[in-house]
Amino acid sequence: MTISQNIAKITRELPPKVKLVAVSKTKGVPEIMEAYTAGQKIFGENKVREMQAKQPELPNDIQWHFIGHLQTNKIKFIAPFVTMIESVDRLKVLQEVNKHALAVNRRIPCLLQFHIAEEETKFGLDMEEAKEILDNEYFGKLHNVIICGVMGMATFTDDENQVRKEFRQLRKIFDTLKQNYFQGDAAFKEISMGMSGDYRIAIEEGSTIVRLGSIIFGERG
Ligand SMILES: *Cc1c(COP(=O)(O)O)cnc(C)c1O
Repeated sequence: MTISQNIAKITRELPPKVKLVAVSKTKGVPEIMEAYTAGQKIFGENKVREMQAKQPELPNDIQWHFIGHLQTNKIKFIAPFVTMIESVDRLKVLQEVNKHALAVNRRIPCLLQFHIAEEETKFGLDMEEAKEILDNEYFGKLHNVIICGVMGMATFTDDENQVRKEFRQLRKIFDTLKQNYFQGDAAFKEISMGMSGDYRIAIEEGSTIVRLGSIIFGERG
C-alpha cells in the first residue's frame, strides 16, 4: 500500500474525535508531501534539527508536533512555529518554552509526558513529579504555555493486557490532574497515546491523539 492509501485507511478507521499525528521522523520531504496531499495536516518529529530543517520546505498549514526528548538549548529553534510540544518532562523545559514563546509572541500548547512503561529507558514524569511542577510557584507565572493534557508510551510488547493496563494508567493520571488542577480548563483535554502497534487499544482506553509512523510510512531503516 502507498502512503496515501495508508492515510486514507487509517483516517477512515479513527473515531472523529481522535487526531492523527503522522510521525515523519527519518522520512524526507517527498514522503511527507505524499501524506499531505492525501489530506494529512499534522506531523510529528522527535529531533529539533530535523523538524527545523523540514518545516521551511513544506506547506505552511502543516501542524508540527514535537514528540521527542527536548534539550532546553534547542527550544528556540522550534518556538516560532511548533504547534504542540508533547514531551514536556520537567519544569525547566516548560520555563524555556515559555521564555521563547514569549519572545515570538506566542502561546505554545504542551503535553506533560508520563512514564507508564516498564522499560526504564523511556522518558517521562511520575505523578509525584508532575505535582511538583504544577504546585511550583513558577508554574503559575508561565503565561505563554498552555497545558493541554498528557502523553505516554506503552511498553513495547505483544502482551495486550500489559499495554492496556499502562494506557488505563495514563487515562487515570489525566482524570486526576483534570480534577485537581485543570477543572473548568477547556484546553486540558488531550490524552496522546497509541503508536502503530498499539493504537487500537489506546483508542479503546480513551486516547484523543494517536502518533503513527511505520504503519503510514513503512518501517524506518
Ligand atoms: C517514533 C515514535 C512514534 C511512532 O512510532 P511507530 O511505531 O512507527 O508508529 C510515536 N511516538 C513517539 C514518541 C515516537 O518517538
